[in-house]
Amino acid sequence: MPLTGIEIYKHLPKTNCKECSFPTCLAFAMKVAQKAVPITQCPYLSPEARAALEAAARPPIHLVTIGADKRKIEVGNEVVMFRHEKTFYHPPGIVVRLKDTTPVEELKRRAQEIASYQVERVGMKLGLDGLALENASGDPSALARALEAVDGQGDLPLVLMAGPGALAQVLEKVAPRRPLLYAATRDNWEAMAELALKYKCPLAVAEPSGLEALAGQVEKISQKGVEDIVLDPGARDFASSLVTLTQIRRLALKKNFRPLGHPVITFPGEGAKDQEEEALLAAQQVAKYAGVIVLDRFSPSLAYPLLALRLNIYTDPQKPIQVQPGVYQLGAPKEASPLCVTTNFSLTYFSIAGELESSGFPSWLLVCDTEGLSVLTAWAAGKFDAARIAKTVKEFKAGETVSHHSLILPGKVAVLKGELEEELPGWQVLVGPPEAMDIGGFLKQHWKN
Ligand code: SF4
Repeated sequence: MPLTGIEIYKHLPKTNCKECSFPTCLAFAMKVAQKAVPITQCPYLSPEARAALEAAARPPIHLVTIGADKRKIEVGNEVVMFRHEKTFYHPPGIVVRLKDTTPVEELKRRAQEIASYQVERVGMKLGLDGLALENASGDPSALARALEAVDGQGDLPLVLMAGPGALAQVLEKVAPRRPLLYAATRDNWEAMAELALKYKCPLAVAEPSGLEALAGQVEKISQKGVEDIVLDPGARDFASSLVTLTQIRRLALKKNFRPLGHPVITFPGEGAKDQEEEALLAAQQVAKYAGVIVLDRFSPSLAYPLLALRLNIYTDPQKPIQVQPGVYQLGAPKEASPLCVTTNFSLTYFSIAGELESSGFPSWLLVCDTEGLSVLTAWAAGKFDAARIAKTVKEFKAGETVSHHSLILPGKVAVLKGELEEELPGWQVLVGPPEAMDIGGFLKQHWKN
């Protein structure tokens, strides 16, 4: 929980010397609480007060980075339990587990398949985030061979699942990629903590016997100096995952309980009997509250819905995804091709654009600035009315783009037809279908050019 102005004031010298450029210490404390100025702007803080304030200002869930360069996974640093309270910031990394018992050529093929998997949704390219490589053989040299096999396949961030002996043999080479080391247990935690410190890698802490024991384990490892910690509380099935991950999040955010203020790693494949159950459990964990999700199975039909769900949950609800207003070409339209109009909410744009592209009618699509609202919502909010559509037609010179001066209006706002024809003398307004999926049939039936 962030500190209040009064709590910050208690740590200040209370001399009102004004050197921080505020008239009183209290005024300064209030600004610090609003995050308008840094606490370091007071030069008279004692080292103890400064340490206490900096510790209190740390995010309740520690930000952990796995990987380096562009394809890193950043998880944690969340501030609310529920997305509707504000927003979620760092989507869980979704990685796929491979085992070093798999033949090398097959490992290469699967790593390549996972690294290259990509789908486009609302104009964004979505893909998986990493690989988990498990030393299932128990043979350190098999882990090294497997690492070589997956090396260069997209350089995805790694989760290395092995004991300290096997990790010690590969970390010299792979540490610059900053893999997550999985996992410190009650038996090996000292050796794992030493490796994490030596190679500056994040460390997962696994303790399935309860949150109290997990917190104790984390405290011991933190005291050794390891900061970047990921938790594995051992919850594997639907019910225990939901309960345990919610408890951890609640303790971190509501009680500011530091030992559990770390992202959580989950293994939905271990709690599921088949691919469908694994997908469902992973979906639950995307929503509540995994930091890294390790899938045991990979297929596009499992990955795509998870990536779309994650995108939805981690999109700021206060900032709809938008496309730029303007006239878009779909296919290779000519001046006699249909001209449709829609809003600049991404999902709306890509729905109608996709349908037009597959309709067999190369088309023009005029996009109005509705501040990212969909058709009906924008109309209800007064942001998709006749005046605004007419203004957009003129602004982007749609009349010079098409020869026919016919504009196809979304059927859901048919009520605008008359007013729009008054705003656009010389134009004919056609009322299209209410749903984007019906635009192809509409054009076949009504478009004569
Ligand atoms: S510089 Fe520090 S002591 Fe002086 S008024 Fe500001 S907060 Fe108070």
